[in-house]
Amino acid sequence: MGNGDQCAEEYLPLSALQHYAYCPRQFALIHVDRQWAENCFTAEGQVLHQRVNSGEAETRCDLHVARSIRLVSDRLGLYGVADMVEFHRVEGAGCQLPDHPGRWQPYAVEYKRGRSKADDWDRIQLCAQAMALEEMLGVTVPQGAIFYGKPRRREQVAIGETLRETTIRVTGEVHALYAAGHLPLPEPGPKCDHCSLRRICLPDRKSASEYLRRMFDL
Ligand code: SF4
Repeated sequence: MGNGDQCAEEYLPLSALQHYAYCPRQFALIHVDRQWAENCFTAEGQVLHQRVNSGEAETRCDLHVARSIRLVSDRLGLYGVADMVEFHRVEGAGCQLPDHPGRWQPYAVEYKRGRSKADDWDRIQLCAQAMALEEMLGVTVPQGAIFYGKPRRREQVAIGETLRETTIRVTGEVHALYAAGHLPLPEPGPKCDHCSLRRICLPDRKSASEYLRRMFDL
């Protein structure tokens, strides 16, 4: 998919954006080579998501909370599940909901382990969710939030033009890499220490350092 206004031939999961933004090789290992490895970071994230997704939908006055909402975007060629979407009652604009009279403004909340990051990895995924909601519900979604497990706080995210452009660009790159079926070379760095695919991606690194340690008796 070269640009965001074309339908993709193959739909990819929303999580692919974050994998790609973290490391293009990680994305290719997971989505092209179909490799997956669990580590304590992914396990922690799954527990957090299971807790959120097991909750029931609820309505309180001017707020309706829905969980595990299936999303699809023809424009981005992405599908996935939103952890939580809040619908705030509004006058005039907004969308309609079955069995809930009035108009409602959607507000996606994505749950993440760890802390807020300087990079846009998490915000790009949230933005894609917001854009999918816009396409499905015919409304503008100008804001969302990311709830971080540490320090258990929400970060409000403006779904602005720059973030949308970045999301469309990254989505195009992700589809292009997937279509090419290419596995980028590793670019080892600090991020590798937290990567669930480190042992698959860099199998020689540990053995090489062990070899050197043995050789020089360190
Ligand atoms: S180990 Fe490093 S280079 Fe390899 S996939 Fe993970 S982050 Fe990318």
